[in-house]
Amino acid sequence: MTDAPIPAGGVGAWLGELAGALRGERDTDVACGACTACCRSGQFIHIDADERDALAHIPAELVFPAPGQPHGTVLMGYDQHGRCPMLSDQGCTIYEHRPRTCRTYDCRVFAAADVFPDEPEKADIAVRARRWVFTYESTDEGAEHEQVVAAARTLRAAEPDLPATPLAVRAVRQVLDRR
Ligand code: SF4
Ligand code: SF4
Repeated sequence: MTDAPIPAGGVGAWLGELAGALRGERDTDVACGACTACCRSGQFIHIDADERDALAHIPAELVFPAPGQPHGTVLMGYDQHGRCPMLSDQGCTIYEHRPRTCRTYDCRVFAAADVFPDEPEKADIAVRARRWVFTYESTDEGAEHEQVVAAARTLRAAEPDLPATPLAVRAVRQVLDRR
């Protein structure tokens, strides 16, 4: 597996796009190429009741009620290798109909926060995420990126056991809230 850098785009524009995705207003736009690391990472896929298109393309036997969530919210599991059941060797078999969880996932959040997953099943995500390299249109963008990294370090110090995903997302949210 290569560790060659991949352009992540301008950090300012990316933060704006992620803010929209976190509000549920848009999909993320990740240059995944042939990568399927997050589809093989042993993650339960959260699907809301209003996601009728996704649910219509996923066999009912692959989902189950999400504990503690509103009626109709379901989770899709993974196989013994951590692979999503909708993943084939050619990629996602329901790509145009994939759940919101998949549409809004963006592993650049780890690069932005300089925090990477350390769970074995997420090793390929960490490898991929370490390859992203952001660019800066201005010194303000560089400063904003430093704020994300600093927020992540503060969170890590306060909550050492917090997994990388919520930690990175919370760090980004903190900086977005200051905009
Ligand atoms: S790990 Fe990142 S690059 Fe790979 S498929 Fe997921 S979002 Fe795309
Ligand atoms: S539904 Fe598709 S995009 Fe989502 S985890 Fe499964 S294979 Fe990946």
